[in-house]
Amino acid sequence: MLFRGIKSGIQSFANRSLVRLKASRSEIESKQKELMSRGLPKRKSITGVNQIVVVASGKGGVGKSTTAVNLAVALKLLNPNKTVGLLDTDIFGPSIPLMMNVQESPLLTKGVLLVTTPQKAALQVTQRGAVLFQKLEVPVIGIVENMSHVVCPNCQHSSSLYGHGTKDLASNLGISLLQEIPLDPAITKYTDSGKPVVIAEPDSVQALAYKTLGRRVCEFLATQEMNSN
Ligand SMILES: [Zn+2]
Repeated sequence: MLFRGIKSGIQSFANRSLVRLKASRSEIESKQKELMSRGLPKRKSITGVNQIVVVASGKGGVGKSTTAVNLAVALKLLNPNKTVGLLDTDIFGPSIPLMMNVQESPLLTKGVLLVTTPQKAALQVTQRGAVLFQKLEVPVIGIVENMSHVVCPNCQHSSSLYGHGTKDLASNLGISLLQEIPLDPAITKYTDSGKPVVIAEPDSVQALAYKTLGRRVCEFLATQEMNSN
């Protein structure tokens, strides 16, 4: 594995954006056609960034930022010699064309990590997102399920909160369920205090889950081509 930098983009597209996306598909297509007719757009790479991971979800409140932050830290811990950056961006809102490769902007094609929770509503938008990325031929690294289960602090008994819908969705889509992150109030506490749980409690179940996720993302990135600059 030979990457010097990973840019991890957090993007947030709210339901609003999804609706907009659906409503304006033909609009996008005609815009894309128009721009394509001027000649093929250049896919611009970001100087110094070899690989990009997009942490995406179709819905707010599923722990996307927490996942991105802890994943970034885990990737750095796993690859101390490499530089990991974190970019908070909204690639669905005002900048759909960017994703559609219709303008000269950095194109996020390296790999998407979908973040969801197991509730039905979240799974539905995750499915839409996954189908969209597959249509755009953006490789989907896998799905991360937050609030997967709770672990009893007394007996460590693990209890599933909403069933196994995420697993079913992943297998229907042919996408790996990369990691199931248990619900723990500590995650929120540490995120709010500016200390990712991977650093604050490195041996906790959550931290270990993020580190395993980081390893799986690294394995995926090792199979992907890198920007040459
Ligand atoms: Zn118990």
